[in-house]
Amino acid sequence: MEKYSDFRSDTVTKPTPRMREAMAQAEVGDDVLGDDPTVKKLESLAASLMGKEAALYVPSGTMGNAIAIKVWTQELEEIILESRSHIYNMESTHLSFISRVLPRCLVSQRGAMDPDEVRRHIRQASVHTPRTSLICLENTHNNWSGAVVPLENFKALRAVADEYGLKIHLDGARIFNASLASGIPVKEYAAQVDSVMFCLSKGLSAPVGSMLVGPHDFIEAARRVRKALGGGMRQVGVLAAAGLVALTEMVDRLREDHQRARRLAEAIAPLPGIELDPNNIETNIIIFGFNHPQLTRDEFLVRLREKKVLALPVGTGIRFVTHKDVDDEDVDRAITAFKELLLSS
Ligand SMILES: *Cc1c(COP(=O)(O)O)cnc(C)c1O
Repeated sequence: MEKYSDFRSDTVTKPTPRMREAMAQAEVGDDVLGDDPTVKKLESLAASLMGKEAALYVPSGTMGNAIAIKVWTQELEEIILESRSHIYNMESTHLSFISRVLPRCLVSQRGAMDPDEVRRHIRQASVHTPRTSLICLENTHNNWSGAVVPLENFKALRAVADEYGLKIHLDGARIFNASLASGIPVKEYAAQVDSVMFCLSKGLSAPVGSMLVGPHDFIEAARRVRKALGGGMRQVGVLAAAGLVALTEMVDRLREDHQRARRLAEAIAPLPGIELDPNNIETNIIIFGFNHPQLTRDEFLVRLREKKVLALPVGTGIRFVTHKDVDDEDVDRAITAFKELLLSS
């Protein structure tokens, strides 16, 4: 069977042979009892890469974000986040389900919220109103087509947070993509926030897992919440071993994903029905509107699939994501399929 060119997500990446090898050889112990040396190694590497005191290995990015918000907030509080953010839109309501906080969503400029707008929405506790306790950021911003949120914006929001005694959590699922695209070290983004979650299982290609990093006390509390959510894992060094390979060998490769995304975006942008400015494609996510005289969006996705090209619908548009397991030939195949379907029908 001919293989599919799978642009649905960078989460479809398979572990590398080096990861499989490291997994097979990993030294392990019961991590809930603090005995797994491979997990400890991964956590200390993650903390040092981000310039934070401590780190916690968690099963998923969603759990990492959920734990962070649970630790930084209390009931009867409100948190500020961006209206297209993954946390608000794509994480199955853990804000209300687990943390029981009120979300205040603000519009943004490609993921960057206006600091004055944020300031205007910070509330003090009263008999009528919740106290605002946390701001959540996202970088790169998934639903803004992988946009890089500028460091200047982080600094401005940090100043506002400090003025009002708020914490900042960064959903940095793809923080390494942001860093490679901007040339700014991940530590500089991390320095502006109190905690960071980042994913090992996306472009970095580990099979499972994300990291949560922050101050010692925060991570200690996070460890308890992780256990309460059922996320305490035993000989999980077999997975952490792949995470170590992800962080030591897979980061620079993300550049190739950015180049391929840009090439794909430039090739499809001029075609009929495609609503896309290729200059907005900074990293590995291409989101575009679809408005073709003969084909509906869903028909187009079906026809692409017939040509062995997979992508996902998002809102009223379409999302393509480049990653380790799509190469230049896959990009060529996608471009050819676009031309055949959009120019002929
Ligand atoms: C994928 C993703 C997450 C969550 O990661 P999972 O491991 O899929 O739970 C969080 N934030 C962003 C921006 C993501 O893209």
